[in-house]
Amino acid sequence: MIDFTKYPAEPFRIKSVEPVSMIDREARIKKMEEAGWNTFLLNSEDVYIDLLTDSGTNAMSDRQWGGLMCGDEAYAGSRNFHHLDATVKEVFGFKHLVPTHQGRGAENLLSRIAIKPGQYVPGNMYFTTTRYHQEHNGGIFYDIIRDEAHDSTLNVPFKGNVDLAKLERLIEEKGAENIAYVCLAVTVNLAGGQPVSMENMRQVRELTKKHGIKVFFDATRCVENAYFIKEQEKGFENKTIKEIVREMFSYADGCTMSGKKDCLVNIGGFLCMNDDHLFEAAKELVVVYEGMPSYGGMAGRDMEAMAIGLKESLQYEYIQHRVLQVRYLGDLLKDAGIPIIEPVGGHAVFLDARRFCDHLTQEQFPAQSLAAELYIEGGVRSMERGIVSAGRDKDTGENHKPKLETVRLTIPRRVYTYAHMDVVAGVVKKLYKHRHDIRGLKFVYEPKQLRFFTARFEHIK
Ligand SMILES: *Cc1c(COP(=O)(O)O)cnc(C)c1O
Repeated sequence: MIDFTKYPAEPFRIKSVEPVSMIDREARIKKMEEAGWNTFLLNSEDVYIDLLTDSGTNAMSDRQWGGLMCGDEAYAGSRNFHHLDATVKEVFGFKHLVPTHQGRGAENLLSRIAIKPGQYVPGNMYFTTTRYHQEHNGGIFYDIIRDEAHDSTLNVPFKGNVDLAKLERLIEEKGAENIAYVCLAVTVNLAGGQPVSMENMRQVRELTKKHGIKVFFDATRCVENAYFIKEQEKGFENKTIKEIVREMFSYADGCTMSGKKDCLVNIGGFLCMNDDHLFEAAKELVVVYEGMPSYGGMAGRDMEAMAIGLKESLQYEYIQHRVLQVRYLGDLLKDAGIPIIEPVGGHAVFLDARRFCDHLTQEQFPAQSLAAELYIEGGVRSMERGIVSAGRDKDTGENHKPKLETVRLTIPRRVYTYAHMDVVAGVVKKLYKHRHDIRGLKFVYEPKQLRFFTARFEHIK
């Protein structure tokens, strides 16, 4: 039986349900072949438990659904914008808000207004769309995460922290004027959802301030990060999640946000900043790429749901259950001897495909193949986060070879129960027993940008 003192039961009742069912194994093999061994290309209807992503897959509350009915769809000056504007400013403490259709819309705007070609953009590991926009605008991504983050076996707290020595060296070598800004992700998705400590944020702020360098947070999973701080960092045990979030962002000049994660909605995002000139520049661009500065690609109702969702995400019962449900799945797998990234982060359990498929080389795309086989084994959809996601070097054309070669089992917020986690663990365990049957893959179609979304593969002969 589940120990509910360790893993709290769902802090909600279910009012509306969406039936799911599983097609048989033969049919799953056929669907996977048709999808070119890429789980992104499966149809949702053919999936039993969908752990592809936590992005936009959130279940909304009754209050948020109520909020949708209160959409003010005026072209300009919608009251929902003012609600969102006030909520975001209250939660994060920034001076200006620019709404966007989702996180990458904010990344596009920020990269365009804040990067000069040839400038470095140091970050604690990269995120796919974030790095794309930085590089597309002439920026050079530079990894400043602590070394431990690249080792899947090291179980240390705050594995997402910036290595301050790396940042200091970069500033010394390249000069502060050649650094666009520091991009600090809280939590670090590709490192396994690893959090950043408050102390580290403070130190990054102190160091950059000395050199006049701005810091922008990727705020996508900031509430999950705040939970880890409350749980694990000395001095924060008695602070509320809201207080912790507010302090975190006091160490930044602005942020990009994907509302599809910690704002508990299905679509939306925003960009924040304190600088008046940057705000003017962002407002000029948002009308080109997103829409009026008072809707930025969102319907009024979407902004309303996001304002309500952001407040709900700060409730302790919600975020505690969220993080501990993910940990529950991680603990089940760990206890069964399955290689996962430790510690388990805030939004997902990452299988270590290097150890899971120790008979394959990285160039045979072990994580891509493992994700496909998990679907065939039990109708569970996951995502590759390894060499395929990392893409190729823009100049040399060579594959980036990330140290972490992983399959991400991402838990949507408020969607699945502990019973679903049990089923997923059972599927992974079953596959692990015959893991050496998992075959290597090669590309049959490789798109140039963000190839993991639409690439197709076949088995190596
Ligand atoms: C999802 C995500 C983004 C991009 O946001 P979208 O809303 O999907 O465009 C940026 N950074 C991180 C860390 C993310 O997980």
